[in-house]
Amino acid sequence: MSQSIIKDPSLAPSGRLKIEWASKHMPILNQLLKEYSPLQPLTGHTIVTSVHMEAKTAYLVQALAALGAEVHATGCNPLSTQDDVAAALAEIPNVTVYAIHGQNDLYSELLIKALSHCPHIIIDDGGDLVELLHNKYSKYACKLIGGCEETTTGIHRLKALANKKALKFPMFNINDAECKHNYDNHYGTGQSVIDGILRTTNLIIAGKTAVVAGYGDCGSGIAKRLKGLGAKVIVTEVDPIKALKANMDGYTVTKMDQAAREGDIFITATGCKNVITKKHFNSMKNGAILANAGHFDVEIDVASLRKYAVSRSEARHNIEKYGLPNGNYLYLIADGRLVNLAAADGHAAEIMDMSFSIQLLSVIHIAKHHFMAKDYDGDFQIWHGKTPPNVYPVPKYIDDKVAKLALESQNITIDSLTKAQHKYLENGF
Ligand code: NAD
Ligand code: SAH
Repeated sequence: MSQSIIKDPSLAPSGRLKIEWASKHMPILNQLLKEYSPLQPLTGHTIVTSVHMEAKTAYLVQALAALGAEVHATGCNPLSTQDDVAAALAEIPNVTVYAIHGQNDLYSELLIKALSHCPHIIIDDGGDLVELLHNKYSKYACKLIGGCEETTTGIHRLKALANKKALKFPMFNINDAECKHNYDNHYGTGQSVIDGILRTTNLIIAGKTAVVAGYGDCGSGIAKRLKGLGAKVIVTEVDPIKALKANMDGYTVTKMDQAAREGDIFITATGCKNVITKKHFNSMKNGAILANAGHFDVEIDVASLRKYAVSRSEARHNIEKYGLPNGNYLYLIADGRLVNLAAADGHAAEIMDMSFSIQLLSVIHIAKHHFMAKDYDGDFQIWHGKTPPNVYPVPKYIDDKVAKLALESQNITIDSLTKAQHKYLENGF
């Protein structure tokens, strides 16, 4: 009998439809399943995943189980968990699910339950599993070979541990694989953040002034889509190189202090904290809309907005209206949590197909070679037969394979170098 902790098993039929729809639009993962199913490369491996519990993730979890793993799946944000998907996933053999939508207080407990199965491999999104395994629950790392981290902020957290020499096991940096951040962070976030804002507000973007904080992979994707929909886009940055790029891409670049006065919609995508604070709330236009696309709910200082506001009410589903002492109202979407996942279905299936194919191949690589890679040209060091704890780039063959399969799935063919061209590029003549 399944030990899953989910909201309601009777929700499974609608979850099944969502997973089936997503699976039909994930051709790379389907190809990998075809290739690896006969080999069962994950047999004997227990895997714990902490990734947004929605349809595309469910299909990844299903694929891990289909390749032989025992999987314990939990979410990485209580607001992005979809209870019907969790119910459908809990029906899959060799999968246990620990995820309930909106259960902020239960969130860590569910992660701990999943980890209590002592995984060989983890898939983390944001670093919450790693954090537990480094502190109170290090006993659950007893069989751990290592794992994979999905997102930018999780990588920052891992590198901070590695720099202090406190990281206890090796992790693959999935975020920085070419086929991840160039597509997922940029095009995925660009589209799904707009999707979340449109679904919740049902307002027009054209003609509005939109402020995007952060012009990294995510922010530049969001700005591009806003511009395409007819917004006047203002970018705020702290990095001179990124600010210059935003300027040359045609956006107005200024400080948040100034942008706060001009914006109708604000979207933070920095991975930083306190990007929009009380002084900004005070200078914003009446009716300004606030949304966050970054990892944590600290980019907009929601805690001080709540303290400072004189009234708070629901304006629409997933939108809170805050009355300020100056008589103005501000609208906050999805509690300042990632708007694309808390107020929509996250990135499109075709995008998650690429990110999760990188994940699947990296997990297979860990199971087969641990972190060694014979074609890796960096400095993997093998130490007493064990890979030293560090944050490792995904081996290039994985990126190349996913890119090739992505092109094939779109019936795109490309040129290849002739011998003479190859020689010319290598030798310079
Ligand atoms: P990135 O490092 O490429 O870009 C972040 C940018 O923000 C940088 O250019 C940095 O200079 C800038 N920045 C930092 N502090 C700032 C501040 N105080 N004011 C203005 N700009 C500032 O990172 P990324 O890949 O774009 O990710 C950004 C965040 O989004 C991370 O937290 C990441 O985990 C998250 N993320 C979210 C999704 C999603 O689905 N919503 C997808 C991928 C990543
Ligand atoms: N734990 C964080 C999660 C960071 S979200 C939190 O507090 O919510 C950023 C990551 O979500 C991205 O790297 C992206 O790969 C992933 N993501 C976006 N859309 C997704 C989807 N539809 N399903 C699963 N993961 C998704």
